[in-house]
Amino acid sequence: MTIRLLMSSCLVGQCCRWDANNGKSIVTPRLHKMLCAGEVAVICPECAGGLDVPRPAAEIAPGHCAKCVLSGAGRVVNTAGEDVTAAYVKGAEAAVALAKKHGIRVAVLKAKSPSCSPAKGVYDGTFTHTLVEGSGVAAQALADAGVTLFDETELEAALAALD
Ligand code: SF4
Repeated sequence: MTIRLLMSSCLVGQCCRWDANNGKSIVTPRLHKMLCAGEVAVICPECAGGLDVPRPAAEIAPGHCAKCVLSGAGRVVNTAGEDVTAAYVKGAEAAVALAKKHGIRVAVLKAKSPSCSPAKGVYDGTFTHTLVEGSGVAAQALADAGVTLFDETELEAALAALD
């Protein structure tokens, strides 16, 4: 058994979202087979960083970015006004460690998440559902580690990339 794919936990239906709603499962028959065969590693970087379910919503602070957060110059804040940067960095490190442990080169991650979003946009830190360019903190760390990222609308492309 070889683990070939990394996925955001909420995309396989795990209850790890900030609002404790079940994630949006995108499991197809082929992905189901891979999960059953142990070929997929799943992680919720926010939970891996020590955050609870439920938890206050968080966003990368206005004017900051995932790279800034990873370098120590940026912050992630939540709606309670707490600085949760350390948890996001810890979760990103856990995701990279998991990918490296198994030699994973492809990941399917949840769009728009301050942790998981591939480079297609994140909320701007004002909690007004305003998207700006950029990626989530764990996604950026994975990309920096050489993992090719896809979002939940690109599952078939991700699976094709494994072939
Ligand atoms: Fe899903 Fe990622 Fe958010 Fe966890 S951190 S709930 S895996 S999008």
